[in-house]
Amino acid sequence: MKPTLDYVLRRFDEFNTLCFGGELRPIPVRLSRARSFLGQIAYHRERRLFGSNRNSGFVLRISTLFNLPQDELDDVILHEMIHLSILSRQLKDGSAHGPLFRSMMDDINRRFGRHITVSHRRTREDNERDTAVRQHLVCRVRFRDGRTGLTVAAHTRLLPLWDALQQWSEVSEFRWYVTRDPFFNRFPRSKVLKVYRVDDAEVVDHLCSAVPLMRDGAAVKALQ
Ligand SMILES: [Zn+2]
Repeated sequence: MKPTLDYVLRRFDEFNTLCFGGELRPIPVRLSRARSFLGQIAYHRERRLFGSNRNSGFVLRISTLFNLPQDELDDVILHEMIHLSILSRQLKDGSAHGPLFRSMMDDINRRFGRHITVSHRRTREDNERDTAVRQHLVCRVRFRDGRTGLTVAAHTRLLPLWDALQQWSEVSEFRWYVTRDPFFNRFPRSKVLKVYRVDDAEVVDHLCSAVPLMRDGAAVKALQ
């Protein structure tokens, strides 16, 4: 979707309440036609007495040149909001995306099922171009309401995720597979249960040559 001022302001406000406990002061938002970034926090750094710095004059810039899916645009806004949170509290981080940035990012990703990254350059198109062959443990999850979800497990977490799915009352059925289809490269590997909503026909299509996994079967053990 193409970002509009209204949209960015509204999301800023919603994410501020939801993910930042309302701590961020509203800042001006400008749309730009920049090619070099998707989002950016511009600010002034003032040198103060005794060598300390003070950051002020924050502006959130969002480029309108990229037609990102809404979720990715939201992740860009959140990424910039993490910068704003650190800068406006006058905190120091090791680098632009230092340990503090990363821990806030991981926290928001985990708590709100987001996919914020440290690099804005990796888009869904990049992921679709990622054709490296890797082995994936994937699970097609069917919900009672008819939706289909997909989980890709971190290799060490297959059995705990399996247990978690078994206990989830909204799940009507699920099946794990081993596959090397690069289609699944785009999904992050989950350590805790995270189910991505997917188009069932597309997933079924990509699982037709996958090897189904049996619990307690040789297939599971052979992977460890
Ligand atoms: Zn950044």
